Amino acid sequence: MLIFLKKKFFNIMMCGFFVCGLSLGTVQLAAHPRLEEWQRQNVVISQVKTDRKLVSLTFDDGPHPIHTAKISEILKNHDARATFFMTGQRAEKNPEIVQKVIADGHEIGNHSYSHVNYSHLDTEAQLYDFHKADKVITEITGYAPVLFRPPGGYLSTSMVEQCKSEGIKIAYWTYKQDSKDWRNGVKGDYIADFILQRVEPGQIIILHDGCSNSDETTLALTKLLPRLTAIGYQVVSMSELMKS
Ligand SMILES: [Zn+2]
Repeated sequence: MLIFLKKKFFNIMMCGFFVCGLSLGTVQLAAHPRLEEWQRQNVVISQVKTDRKLVSLTFDDGPHPIHTAKISEILKNHDARATFFMTGQRAEKNPEIVQKVIADGHEIGNHSYSHVNYSHLDTEAQLYDFHKADKVITEITGYAPVLFRPPGGYLSTSMVEQCKSEGIKIAYWTYKQDSKDWRNGVKGDYIADFILQRVEPGQIIILHDGCSNSDETTLALTKLLPRLTAIGYQVVSMSELMKS
């Protein structure tokens, strides 16, 4: 019971951080004076220019002991490869799920160690948190993530410069494809319809496998994936999309 309560509390905390981070991140996303420059330089990626019917599904805030394995399996059964942006803290607690995600053919990106709001940290603390997650993921998977999605989409010049120097891309998402699937009460049917109504080649679609509403995200996939296939789309990892 205590373990259950702890997990529940952790889930709420994670998604709470995410919500705060997202609203803050959105403001900074719109306001950051260098965003367009970084997008032009291909350091911050929110969409890929392609005529091929390819999209990326990305999953944040896992690995979750239940949702992540289910989502990974459903994707595999539909011949889809996704990118999972994991926190180091959760990867450390669920290494077997991290390995399953890799075995199912997916990609793993760095989503910080603690999912702390980076706007509350100085540059040194941001780098420490980022590298800690990088190390945990590398130790479990055997390779270093090449994509970083900052919690809440927070950006700073020092972070972008550091990523550039390490050859890391900052993985944003296609803004109009944000269904807010993490919000409690958002239904799977709504999430699937939201995405299908807006789908275009090269999009990076943000979803969540690590939140309390992620059973609805799981449900959404069972509807979304066959319909994407039916209209000619292939779901690929972000790295594959970027090479297309
Ligand atoms: Zn997150």
